[in-house]
Amino acid sequence: MSVLSIRTLPDSVLREKAKKVTLFNESLQNLIEDMIDTMRYANGVGLAANQVGVLLRVVVIEIPDEEEVRILINPEIIKVEGERRVDEGCLSIPGYRGELTRSVKVRVKALDRRGKALRIRAEGLLAQALEHEIDHINGVLYIDHLSSHEHLWKLERDEVETTTEAI
Ligand SMILES: [Zn+2]
Repeated sequence: MSVLSIRTLPDSVLREKAKKVTLFNESLQNLIEDMIDTMRYANGVGLAANQVGVLLRVVVIEIPDEEEVRILINPEIIKVEGERRVDEGCLSIPGYRGELTRSVKVRVKALDRRGKALRIRAEGLLAQALEHEIDHINGVLYIDHLSSHEHLWKLERDEVETTTEAI
């Protein structure tokens, strides 16, 4: 499998709405494996297919210190609860972080890599990553949620190297 190049702003593929997956074939399985490799190589918490230039509703998430890699096909948020302020970065907007409002709890339905239905109830970083990645497949970026530019900041060089929570 291979590490793909990550699309960054202002690449227009980041602004497009990805299409639903209908074929659970070998090329989907290869895309999923490549996305996992790419996310790990970039030290990311998650990755959406738009970020590697593929307009399909495919998301992978790997929370640090958790064993499981989550693979979500056609994910949809079905319920959110509460609000909290978080700081957030994105692999497609390197060198910046922002402060924005995300939900406390998120409930998502999706399909697994074989097309079987699954549901996730999440809090904390997983909830944040789910909202962030599902935004990506709708062409939305975290900077769209910022209330002003005061909430976006550029990282110093040493911070870029040590920041791992880009999604
Ligand atoms: Zn992102």
